Amino acid sequence: MDIPCEIVKDLIVMYIDDVCSEKSREIVKEHMEGCTDCREYYESLKEPVEVKTISDKYVEIAKEPFLKIRKRNFLNAVSAIVVTAAVFIVCAFVVQEVGVVNDFFFPKKSAYLVIDDNSREWVRVSIEKQEYKDHIYTLNDSEYLSYDSVFFKKKITNSANSEGDIHLRIKNTEGDILIDSFTLKSGTTYECDLKLFEDYVIEASAGEGRYFINFS
Ligand SMILES: [Zn+2]
Repeated sequence: MDIPCEIVKDLIVMYIDDVCSEKSREIVKEHMEGCTDCREYYESLKEPVEVKTISDKYVEIAKEPFLKIRKRNFLNAVSAIVVTAAVFIVCAFVVQEVGVVNDFFFPKKSAYLVIDDNSREWVRVSIEKQEYKDHIYTLNDSEYLSYDSVFFKKKITNSANSEGDIHLRIKNTEGDILIDSFTLKSGTTYECDLKLFEDYVIEASAGEGRYFINFS
């Protein structure tokens, strides 16, 4: 049977895939015995084409965006963990060091005065500064009052626990009176017009008793 090569080649494809009829199979076989061209075509189709490398390459290309996404997700996860840890550490620190934080934002100094006569002479008040260090409060005495933090409101309070009114006056380190005598009843506050980071001498005059003065 003389069938044109074109048709045989179509049949060869089906022959290789094993989807042609027995009759077609015979025709192909018979034709290939006498036709080098078709036999070579058959051989070329029969050999496995190197599709593996191609597909591998495409697999890699196809994977790439997913790898990028995975990398980004990983970085997001890592940064989330780092931020969470940082917030946790800061919170833990604030809770632990709340005294320090409190002292920083609400600084306070105080004076404790014991007057054992009624002469009402002016006495120099030494200022105690509470310092919170290594979890222990310490009181440091100073000859001068210094509002040494911007968080001071520059207020002087005669505590409600004081045993009476107190007269105060404020001098500079040279001894000049800057704010002349003013009276503070127990439990009242005086807002003074003092400068930050400057030393002042505080003098008090009061009757016999114990007095607590707060500088905030
Ligand atoms: Zn042929």
